[in-house]
Amino acid sequence: MSVAGNLARIRSTLPDGVTLVAVSKFHPPEIIREAYDAGQRIFGENRVQELTAKQPLLPHDVEWHFIGTLQTNKVKYIAPFIHTIQSIDSVNLLKEVDRQAGKRKRKIRVLLEIHIAEETSKHGFTMDECRVLLGDGTFSAFPNVRIAGLMGMATFTDDTEQVGREFRRLNAFFEEIKNDRPPGDAFTELSMGMSGDYPIAVAHGSTMVRIGSAVFGERRY
Ligand SMILES: *Cc1c(COP(=O)(O)O)cnc(C)c1O
Repeated sequence: MSVAGNLARIRSTLPDGVTLVAVSKFHPPEIIREAYDAGQRIFGENRVQELTAKQPLLPHDVEWHFIGTLQTNKVKYIAPFIHTIQSIDSVNLLKEVDRQAGKRKRKIRVLLEIHIAEETSKHGFTMDECRVLLGDGTFSAFPNVRIAGLMGMATFTDDTEQVGREFRRLNAFFEEIKNDRPPGDAFTELSMGMSGDYPIAVAHGSTMVRIGSAVFGERRY
């Protein structure tokens, strides 16, 4: 199947209002261009060096999302152009994104990453940490970032019931936070679901899926 064919097939299964982020990590600009030519505008990358190499080679209306572990000392390289950072997993990182966005007179949209998987290797705030930081005003202290929602990754397992439970828990937490935000606040995105589990994520309220291999094929590392 072609990239365009894959995109069309995936899009046809996504309900209205669910955004598709095409995860292009490890794929060359020519292949990303195929997706672009098929109408895709939102792409996700997880390594700073790879993203800063590709970004100038693709059209300027691409909306780049950062979805990987981000070291604070590398924020400055993506701050000039990044649209959304989905993987905010510490207050320090948020502070640096705010600082770098301010320097460039930009506002950067961010999602808070919440740890929902069993594996300890996955990053993110716990729900309790997140509640505290939202409640005590820590997260509101940064004028150049816009906290637009949450991101989470389920455990990598064939146990679809477990995956469903994890997504259901994150969705409930998302609703809880959303209800506490001031009216008109742009806290609207729940980013969950990848190639192997996005139908389950969508069934549990995902508003944004991050799909790599089902669009571009297997990655060669
Ligand atoms: C790589 C990656 C994806 C996409 O994974 P696929 O299984 O290829 O769809 C989604 N989210 C994050 C955070 C990733 O690192």
